[in-house]
Amino acid sequence: MSETIGYDVVVAMLRGAIESVNANHALLGRLDSHGGDGDHGTTMVRAMKQVAQAIGDDTAHELKPFLDSVGWAIMGVDGGATGPLLGTLFMSMGEGADGVAQLDAGALATMLESGLAGVRKRTKAQVGDKTMMDALTPAVEAARAAADAGEDLRGVLAAAADAAQAGAEKTKELQARFGRAKHLGEGSIGEQDPGATSTAFIFRGFLEGVTNDA
Ligand code: ADP
Ligand code: MG
Repeated sequence: MSETIGYDVVVAMLRGAIESVNANHALLGRLDSHGGDGDHGTTMVRAMKQVAQAIGDDTAHELKPFLDSVGWAIMGVDGGATGPLLGTLFMSMGEGADGVAQLDAGALATMLESGLAGVRKRTKAQVGDKTMMDALTPAVEAARAAADAGEDLRGVLAAAADAAQAGAEKTKELQARFGRAKHLGEGSIGEQDPGATSTAFIFRGFLEGVTNDA
């Protein structure tokens, strides 16, 4: 793939995320049944439907306003924790791509860092608390490290996807300190966190989206 990506490839990344989440929604629901209320699969499917709608409705084809509308669309998905946090991720990614038409590896990492910074304003959850942050934080850190090490765009997204997956897998052994699963105490140990798992599917989808598009 080329050294930079623009609007079309970002759309391909989002389409990849939609496919990846939708293909795995049953698992997300099952994981949320362990410590939560079982709705995470259906909530994520609804969120991805909103993303698809935002892609279809977009006419300006500029990264910031596009990601802003994707974020707002996800925010509109009622379903507790996911809508506001995931919506914020995409809106804040948009802020990190303000005025940028083409992203190189470094700018892609900056966009992801902006997304993480936005989510951090909305939750105090840290790595180790068994939430989506356990996948998101290492994914963004790995993206930055890969970009700084001179990896190309695909390498940046591959590093992020692998780190998100590893982070999500680690949540299996953790006790939830945020969200509904917190009330389970030690009983929350033994299954992966649903939000960390869906976040990992999003990052895997980003990678698959650019790979399919290249
Ligand atoms: P709800 O718990 O409201 O039913 P979902 O089932 O859609 O929402 O999402 C649950 C996921 O949301 C959890 O697995 C966790 O990753 C994430 N989550 C919940 N509360 C928080 C929080 N305060 N901070 C960060 N992530 C959270
Ligand atoms: Mg739930």
